Amino acid sequence: MFDLYVVGAGFSAASGAPRETEILPRIFSQPKNKPLAKILTEVLYPDTADWPAKVSFQEVISRLDLIRYYRPYPNIDYNLIDQCENRLMQEMVWILHPDNTGLNQDLYRLFVHDLAGNADFLSFNYDLVLEQALADLGETIDLHLDLTDHPVSVSREANPSRTLLKLHGSINLKFCPQCKTIFRFMHINAKDQYCLDCGSLLNYFLVAPTLFKAYELPAIRDIWYAALIRLIRSEQISFIGYSLPDSDLLTYQMLDTAFRMNGKKQRVYLVNGPHFNPVKFINIYGKNLINTKFYFEEWVEKHKEGLNH
Ligand SMILES: [Zn+2]
Repeated sequence: MFDLYVVGAGFSAASGAPRETEILPRIFSQPKNKPLAKILTEVLYPDTADWPAKVSFQEVISRLDLIRYYRPYPNIDYNLIDQCENRLMQEMVWILHPDNTGLNQDLYRLFVHDLAGNADFLSFNYDLVLEQALADLGETIDLHLDLTDHPVSVSREANPSRTLLKLHGSINLKFCPQCKTIFRFMHINAKDQYCLDCGSLLNYFLVAPTLFKAYELPAIRDIWYAALIRLIRSEQISFIGYSLPDSDLLTYQMLDTAFRMNGKKQRVYLVNGPHFNPVKFINIYGKNLINTKFYFEEWVEKHKEGLNH
């Protein structure tokens, strides 16, 4: 059995969550977001007319993160960059809101029930698909975060049964830029919300792969460190629907470091479908990589068949 599942966008696709390159066209097709598309085109992609169909959401927020950090252009209003990023994240929260997704919950419950054993999870997804499946089966989850529930305090289990490390944040979380407190919202909405302690406007806890903005948050450093330790200690890891995008250099380094520190003994399975080019994974894991060529749905189905025979 697997010790650890690492899940990306392809894992959530069966929930109705859009694929990476469907997100921006969907956001910009709304008339209210035309000004946003115009600004982003001018700042990020002035020479590429059809960029929204070619670029992932995470690449755009990574580029905004880089621009904010290095401030390479003298004539840009950097408050506008912040506003654009905030607007994009607001739209993303709506796209991934459980009311707007939620297809094929049976598949996820089957996965957790039949395949996940006692495994823990690393997730690069902002959505709540995995949390929902775990909660439906009565599992309690440790997010490895010191959270304040908003608006009310929810009673928590003393000993959570699963660890789920969300390396890029989550749509139901926001953080205070002043006190660094992380708030978990029972009711997800896109309205402005304020810190219960200091009154500051809260930021979305959706993290760009570059991590520049989030690196000041102790919570994010803790989650990444916990992920590294989990990776090192795992004997069998399965990657589901995670493509290791070029923008995510830190993840590449973390996987590579963990494999070396593990003594290069761990076996690693890829569940990314038949058309995925596994070269980046082979560069890290070499002969320890097993490319199943199955999509997530097929893989769950195969295991179900296997269990019945
Ligand atoms: Zn605060």
